Amino acid sequence: MIKFSVSRVEKEPVFLEGTEGPEFWGLPENDPYTSDKPVVYELQVRSAAGSILVTGRVEGTVSAVCGRCLEPVEMEIFTEDIELYYAKSDIREEELDITADVRDELLIELPMNPLCSEECKGLCPTCGTNRNKENCQCTRRGNLAWGALDAVVTEEK
Ligand SMILES: [Zn+2]
Ligand SMILES: [Zn+2]
Repeated sequence: MIKFSVSRVEKEPVFLEGTEGPEFWGLPENDPYTSDKPVVYELQVRSAAGSILVTGRVEGTVSAVCGRCLEPVEMEIFTEDIELYYAKSDIREEELDITADVRDELLIELPMNPLCSEECKGLCPTCGTNRNKENCQCTRRGNLAWGALDAVVTEEK
């Protein structure tokens, strides 16, 4: 849990720094992403007029399968510009738990489609070869098309 004492922040800025287990992500079981690495955070909490401001960074690591080539891929996910505001009039507790809000900041950094790299060439739709690793012969699709046409012409004769 990431939390701080509201009365302490009223007196001085508080620096929150630590790690959370991979369960911090709260990823559902059928999510394309999984994580077994810790989440690291460094946050500064300070009091401003009428509100409490949290800034800082959070970083974690997730695993997924590349959407193009289906190879496993591990990605570092981080954000360095967290900015959370809490209106003092809304704060009821002496300890404010901001775990869920920090999690959301990290979750929005997850790409919609996991890719091993932007340049991933993916799998050949014809033979399934991973085109990052080798070139298959299917790239000469023009030749194959003409070959099929030849066959049709021959039949008509
Ligand atoms: Zn890939
Ligand atoms: Zn192929």
